[in-house]
Amino acid sequence: MTVRPILTFPNNLLRKRAIPVKNIDDEVKGLIKDMRDTLLEASGIGLAANQIGVLKRIVVLNIPDQVEMSVFINPEILHKSGRREVSEGCLSFPGYSGIVNRSVSVTVRHIDEAGGKIKITAEQLLSQALEHEIDHLNGILFIDHLKEHEMLSLSVPDYRPHSHDLNVSVDVTEEGKGSEFNEKLYTKIKVEDLKEALSRAHILKEAE
Ligand SMILES: [Zn+2]
Repeated sequence: MTVRPILTFPNNLLRKRAIPVKNIDDEVKGLIKDMRDTLLEASGIGLAANQIGVLKRIVVLNIPDQVEMSVFINPEILHKSGRREVSEGCLSFPGYSGIVNRSVSVTVRHIDEAGGKIKITAEQLLSQALEHEIDHLNGILFIDHLKEHEMLSLSVPDYRPHSHDLNVSVDVTEEGKGSEFNEKLYTKIKVEDLKEALSRAHILKEAE
């Protein structure tokens, strides 16, 4: 099991466009395995390869109630429909969330781990997660979608290790783990840097 550190804002690799995968070779398979391990450790919903510093177009999703994690190689949104407001967070912004606009449904084309060409139409959390993660592959972050005059708020008063990526109804106060940091994923310094960067970007709500 290899958990890789998750990059936090404002790391510039999060702003780079990832490159399409040409062959699903051992290196790509190893990367996917590490992405699964990292997502599991983070109790997250989605992870794009950029977030662990690899500029390849690969996304791993772990949607609650789905039996297995799903892997999307070279995912591409073919069609979007509808518009809704949702609360959202990101593993690269541990502890923060904001209100963004997302589609009601998206149709996505991608390649699976076995090399099969797949096309799916997703709704609800899966749709939101696909938009969020495919954005990552294009260097776009959820803060770019914050509604006008909206700012980020601290969704977890004392950030605790197992944060969540997109905001579903996860009870973050259970287990009484307090404000420890998961040092496999983030160092305290990185998280402090994040707060500093967010306040400089003027997208942080005050007095949290
Ligand atoms: Zn994210």
